[in-house]
Amino acid sequence: MGKDKIIPVVKNNNYIMIIDDIGTRGEGIGKIDGYTLFVEGALPKEEVEVKVLKTKKNYGFAKLLNIIKPSTNRVEPICNISKQCGGCQLQHLSYDEQLIYKQKKVENVLQRIGQVNNVKVNKTIGMDNPYYYRNKVQFPVRQGKNGNVEIGFYSERSHRIVETDTCYIQHPINEQIVKLIREFILENNISPYNEEKHRGLIRHIITRISSKNNDVNITIVINGNKLPHQDNLIKKLTTIKEVKGICININKEKTNVILGNNITTIWGETNIVDSIGNINYRISPKSFYQVNPIQTKKLYEKALEYADLSGEEIVWDAYCGIGTITLFLAKKAKKVYGVEIVKEAIEDAKQNAILNKINNVDFFVGKAEEVIKDKYEQNNIEADVIVVDPPRKGCDEELLKTIIEMNPKKAVYVSCDPATLARDVRVLMEAGYELKEVQPVDMFPQTVHVECVTVLYRQDS
Ligand code: SAH
Repeated sequence: MGKDKIIPVVKNNNYIMIIDDIGTRGEGIGKIDGYTLFVEGALPKEEVEVKVLKTKKNYGFAKLLNIIKPSTNRVEPICNISKQCGGCQLQHLSYDEQLIYKQKKVENVLQRIGQVNNVKVNKTIGMDNPYYYRNKVQFPVRQGKNGNVEIGFYSERSHRIVETDTCYIQHPINEQIVKLIREFILENNISPYNEEKHRGLIRHIITRISSKNNDVNITIVINGNKLPHQDNLIKKLTTIKEVKGICININKEKTNVILGNNITTIWGETNIVDSIGNINYRISPKSFYQVNPIQTKKLYEKALEYADLSGEEIVWDAYCGIGTITLFLAKKAKKVYGVEIVKEAIEDAKQNAILNKINNVDFFVGKAEEVIKDKYEQNNIEADVIVVDPPRKGCDEELLKTIIEMNPKKAVYVSCDPATLARDVRVLMEAGYELKEVQPVDMFPQTVHVECVTVLYRQDS
């Protein structure tokens, strides 16, 4: 007991402190008498007044009360609910500094988790206009405390809804869509979902817009078998000329997963078509598609540059989704194989190959870690280059083992989480691969998220 450090701050008391750093969730970090406090909304070099909310043995959390000396990098957030909404964590930081923050974040994580020290992390590739970039939005619809209908976004780390009509990182057309669906719910007495009781019908509204022609697909997720008065909804939503398809997705599970298995198109087209560079992509509601089309082009171009293909290579694209990177690569390779776990995405991928008249590709449904291994062991499919673009949890260990066994000249890694990227590149580096540079790309301006692309070389190549 006697050896326990004394915590120099008291819960609920106010203090004045200097912020020294910014954390992975965008929070300010500073010390009072050597004791670390995390302060959401504060920026490095600021002098702030805070109220201590919670103390743990080695660190605590405090609320920002007052900024005594603001940072020169502080800007006024464009959105007036940016503090409550969990969507954007960095609107109070100038865009140039956001790009530097992301570059440093990648550098730090590579060092801390990957013990990678001699790698060049390039400047983050940013956007000219870092707003209105999202092509997909998922609005939770919930029953409020008084039985009212809440549509908006989750607040940070919770499922409490922050209601809003306007969001500055998504397409403005969503405002009209949400307004009409809210009207429909109220006029037809449709129940919004109550998460705790697992009751009520409408759970989510998902919209996707094509950057090519502004076509919109709307998918309504329901906790039931059908949507009463759906013709009234169709009538309303089709007054928006960009709406080209309306779908219903049934999800009756008590789960955080947004989409259920069953999708029916109740009006118009099921899919939208978008293009990146000169390749067109059909996208169905259940398929993954990058949310920022302008930056996606830059990301894929970089991946292609890193793959440095001559036309003779056999390439694997693991976690290929609707074949986006696969088709980009195919134009420069002898043959590209894509693998993806979602069946509908592979159906899209196959259609996309036909749509773009690309013949040197083959797609497989399944787990990357199983399919690539099987094809290598049983069909002798080798690879000169392997591209991986896994979800946040990173590559499966088995896949990394197979890559090491297959021993391709290059592995191009596209990552949406620097922590798992660092963990996985460590494994490949221990097996003899070399990492020279990492390129962060800002796919998610105003948020703390960062996408990276990098290439690992087999040492003899
Ligand atoms: N490369 C694509 C998709 C990247 S997102 C693009 O840029 O659009 C990651 C994809 O991995 C998702 O489509 C997801 O469905 C898929 N996925 C998740 N786990 C997987 C696994 N074990 N094997 C194969 N694909 C998987």
